[in-house]
Amino acid sequence: MNIALIAHDAKKELMVQFCIAYCGILSRHDLFATGTTGKLVGEATGLSIQRFLSGSQGGDQQIASLIACNEIDLLIFFRDPSSPKPHEPDEAGLLRLCDAHNIPVATNIATGEALIHSLNRGDLDWRDIVRAKKN
Ligand code: PGA
Repeated sequence: MNIALIAHDAKKELMVQFCIAYCGILSRHDLFATGTTGKLVGEATGLSIQRFLSGSQGGDQQIASLIACNEIDLLIFFRDPSSPKPHEPDEAGLLRLCDAHNIPVATNIATGEALIHSLNRGDLDWRDIVRAKKN
């Protein structure tokens, strides 16, 4: 499965800890991330991650374009609800595309953990099958 990771600055440490905790599961999948999130997670875990631009430079939109092309199966996007971001319209577009394409998305660690456990159980494997049929 193709998994995208994004974390706002206030949630980056949380994302790093999350990826350390679930490194064994994540290592069995293809990982994508915005620039700084991918750098920090890669350094902390040794996981191989395809990195895009920072969110503020268009990284959210790069991931959104993969979602539009049916190339992402799961998005984990730890958002900071307390401070507005200049690229919020891009983020809203990204989340809209997840809804348009029925992509499972977690915007906080509670849902992130639920989705990771689902992934580990194979509950999301149908996404791989659907993507293979479309491609
Ligand atoms: P970053 O981008 O991982 O490069 O910081 C994410 C964001 O803050 O939107």
